[in-house]
Amino acid sequence: MANTNVSPLNTHFFDDVCQFFDHAAQFTNHPQGLLDQIKACNSVYRFQFPIRKGNSFEVIHAWRVEHSHHMSPTKGGIRYSEMVNEDEVMALAALMTYKCAIVNVPFGGAKGGIQINPKNYTVAELETITRRYTVELIKKNFIGPGIDVPAPDYGSGEREMSWIADTYYTMNPGQLDAMGCVTGKPIALHGINGRREATGRGVAIAVRECVSVSEDMKELGLTAGLQDKRVIVQGLGNVGYNSAKFLIEYGAIVVGLCEFEGAIYNEDGLDLDAVFAHRKQTGSILGFSGAKKEFRNSAEGLEQPCDILVPAALENQITQENIGRIQAKIIAEGANGPTSPEAAEAFLQRGGIIIPDMYCNAGGVTVSYFEWLKNLSHVAFGRMDKRYEENANLNLVNTLESITGVNLSGDQRKMIIKGASELELVNSGLEDTMIRSYHE
Ligand code: GLU
Repeated sequence: MANTNVSPLNTHFFDDVCQFFDHAAQFTNHPQGLLDQIKACNSVYRFQFPIRKGNSFEVIHAWRVEHSHHMSPTKGGIRYSEMVNEDEVMALAALMTYKCAIVNVPFGGAKGGIQINPKNYTVAELETITRRYTVELIKKNFIGPGIDVPAPDYGSGEREMSWIADTYYTMNPGQLDAMGCVTGKPIALHGINGRREATGRGVAIAVRECVSVSEDMKELGLTAGLQDKRVIVQGLGNVGYNSAKFLIEYGAIVVGLCEFEGAIYNEDGLDLDAVFAHRKQTGSILGFSGAKKEFRNSAEGLEQPCDILVPAALENQITQENIGRIQAKIIAEGANGPTSPEAAEAFLQRGGIIIPDMYCNAGGVTVSYFEWLKNLSHVAFGRMDKRYEENANLNLVNTLESITGVNLSGDQRKMIIKGASELELVNSGLEDTMIRSYHE
C-alpha cells in the first residue's frame, strides 16, 4: 500500500501532521481506506511566474493546496515567506481541514504559499506578485466564493487580501458574491470587525478556559485562573501580539517575548505596547529598557521560567532538542505545528498540557466564516440586527393593536417599527392613547 505520509521534499511537516492524525485515528472505527482519503491532500497546485524587478526578471514560486473537498469551499491563508515549500503548504492545508472540523465551520482545508521574503520587495512589486498569483488561481479554478477562499497568514495581511479581492472582482465583473472570494479584507473593503485580532483573541480564550479547570491546574501545581500566570510569547506578529494583549487583559503577566532577532525577559512583566513601539522604532526587541534579561539566541527565550508558553510564529520550534529545557507547564499553540510529535510526546509524558494548534488558533477562520457569510448575503451584521429588531417591533405593534383594539395610523405604526424611544412615544401622545385604550 502506498505510504500516504511521504512528503515530496526532504522536510517533514506534512509527515508530522499525518503522525498526529494516525495517533488520533486509532481511537476511531473508520476503515483504513477512508482514513487514508481524509489524510491525503486532494489537489496540489504548484506554479511559477516571472516578475520584473528593476532591470531584471525574477521567477516567483508559488503554491495553493486544497487538502479536502468534503466541504466546499476550501479555506485557508496564504503564506508569504522565503522558507515556504510544498511540504509546508500541504501540512498547513491539512491542519486547516481539521481546524475547520473542530470549530464546525463548513469548509474544507486549503493553504497557499508564495516563496518570497516580503521585506525584499517594494509595495508595488508585492502588489504585482499578489495580483499575478490571484490570476493564476483564477485560471485554474483555485479561487472563488464557492471554490476556495484564501485569507491572511504569516507574511500577509489586509492589504494583500484587498488586492486579491480586487483582482478577482475585476476578472469576474458583476459576480454578486465576488467579495466572498477572500477573507481578512480591510473593514472598508467588505471585511468584518474583529477579524484582525480574532486569532490572538481565540488563543487567549483557549488558554483562559484551559486554566480554569482547577483539577488539571492542581496536577500541574498551579492555581486555577489566569490571574498572575507568567506567559512567554514567541512572535510579535498579528497572532502573537494579540494573544499577548488579550492574555494581559485577562490577568496574565507577559514575562517573555521572542522574535527572530532575539528574546527579552522580565519576571515582573513586560509592557507589550512599549516593546512593540521600541521594535518599530529600532527594528529589534533587543535593547528594550524594561527588560531584565535579553538573549541574542531567540530560542533561549523559550526556555525561561514561565507557566504558559505561547509559540505564535512558525512550525517546528519546540523539538526533541529543546523540549527538556522548556520550563512552561502549558504550551498553547498559537502557530500551526510549533511542537514536533516527539516533543509533544515528551511534554505530555512529564505531565504538561498542550492546547493544540487546530483548536487553539481557530479563532481566525471562525471569524473569517462570518466575513464570508456577510459577503454572500450582502447584509452587514449591524443592519441584520436592525432587521431583526424591526421584525420584533412589528410583532409588538400587532400585539398592542389586538390587545388595546386601537387601530394605529400608518405613521404611528412606522414609528414603533423603527424603534421609537419611550420619550418619542410619550411626546407623540401615542403611548398615552395606547395606555388609555388598554384601561378603558
Ligand atoms: N491563516 C489562518 C489560519 O491558519 C487563517 C485562515 C482563514 O481565515 O481562512 O487559520
